[in-house]
Amino acid sequence: MTLIDMRDVSFGYSRQRKVLHGVSLSVRQGVSVGLVGESGSGKTTILRLLLGLARPTGGSITFDGSSLDPSSRTFMRDYRRSVQAVFQDPYSSLDPRQKVHDIISEPLQSLRIPGSHPDAVAAALDAVGLPADAINRYPHEFSGGQRQRIAIARAIVARPQLVLADEAVSALDLSTRIRIVDLFKRLAQSMTLVFVSHDLGVVASLCEEIIILERGHIVESGRTRAILDNPQHPYTQKLLQSVPRMPGQGRTRGKQ
Ligand code: ADP
Repeated sequence: MTLIDMRDVSFGYSRQRKVLHGVSLSVRQGVSVGLVGESGSGKTTILRLLLGLARPTGGSITFDGSSLDPSSRTFMRDYRRSVQAVFQDPYSSLDPRQKVHDIISEPLQSLRIPGSHPDAVAAALDAVGLPADAINRYPHEFSGGQRQRIAIARAIVARPQLVLADEAVSALDLSTRIRIVDLFKRLAQSMTLVFVSHDLGVVASLCEEIIILERGHIVESGRTRAILDNPQHPYTQKLLQSVPRMPGQGRTRGKQ
């Protein structure tokens, strides 16, 4: 089943300058996709369009066959339940005045999801590897990696079909990054992940499919392994040359 279908999408923050040029991509249920490109290539802009925070200037976006319409309250309510996001900075994305319980249960409340919220929060904390007593603490009591786990718990608490992650491990130190990538890998077994990163190595270890974006154009896309083993586009080749090896993960390209 196709969750997201983006057809020939263009977008510009101003009329003079387009930042996305005829972008077409699809995300199928259960197949995690990595969106890779250098800073400024348009990755976050694509996520903003997918979250309904901006509208394409050309082309169309559908979710599960229905047109993504940010002006429709009913569509967006269902959509927010199905699609959640995790952002880069675990320090600024959590409200410092709220206890962890309130942070994680916020989507359940704003989406008016029935059932026991404390049970759902406990299950989400467990899924991200945080102790149950974290609920009564504040974000500042946690490390960067733990805060990102809290942000991930908030994203999964309403059991979305799709999680959009924007550079969600980039601000973390290397050993924490590896642990959070492992967490995403585990979560990707039960939900679909679109993982945006400038780091091809991280995406290679996480995503079955990859989309390479250069200055608002998709230059290559397909099965991650096939593309990394045999990159066709010079831009992909250049990105691959700059991939560092992640300790403990073996080589990020070639035979593993
Ligand atoms: P990436 O996530 O790959 O770093 P972005 O989607 O953030 O790329 O940016 C794509 C292009 O859009 C860049 O040229 C950037 O300068 C421009 N851009 C991003 N956000 C804005 C904004 N709010 N207003 C104007 N231009 C923007």
